Amino acid sequence: MARRKIEETPVINSDYAYFDLEIRPSKIHRWGVYAKEDIPKRRRVMEYTGERISRRETKRRSDLQHKLIYLFTVDSYWCLDGAVGGSGAERVNHCCDPNLQALITGGRIFYVARRDIKAGEELTIDYHFSKDVERVPCKCGSKICRGTINVLG
Ligand SMILES: [Zn+2]
Repeated sequence: MARRKIEETPVINSDYAYFDLEIRPSKIHRWGVYAKEDIPKRRRVMEYTGERISRRETKRRSDLQHKLIYLFTVDSYWCLDGAVGGSGAERVNHCCDPNLQALITGGRIFYVARRDIKAGEELTIDYHFSKDVERVPCKCGSKICRGTINVLG
């Protein structure tokens, strides 16, 4: 019998979204988050939620490669793991010239528009992976693509 892994379509938890957003297949990587309405520059777009975990637990989970992408550093001790209780923000793909930036305030992470975003655009953020971890190639296609999701230098 053929075994096929069927992935459920991820969804946005609208409790944490300030605009109408949706998840659909992306050209960058698997699923992406898209604006369903225009979003003005500097507005909060959504909150990045997930299980709050310690530095030690972050280290343990990031050794499981497939989870790396959903771990978001809040400060020198805490991380949020968007794989558990994620709002959908964990599905925002990396781009070297993104239309979102992260705002960390009061132990929470908000994605804010770096520029005006048009309805239908895919939302993107710079993951800023450490230069000290394994290089992950980037295919974001932007003119200033640095070729890797990691920071250089
Ligand atoms: Zn890139």
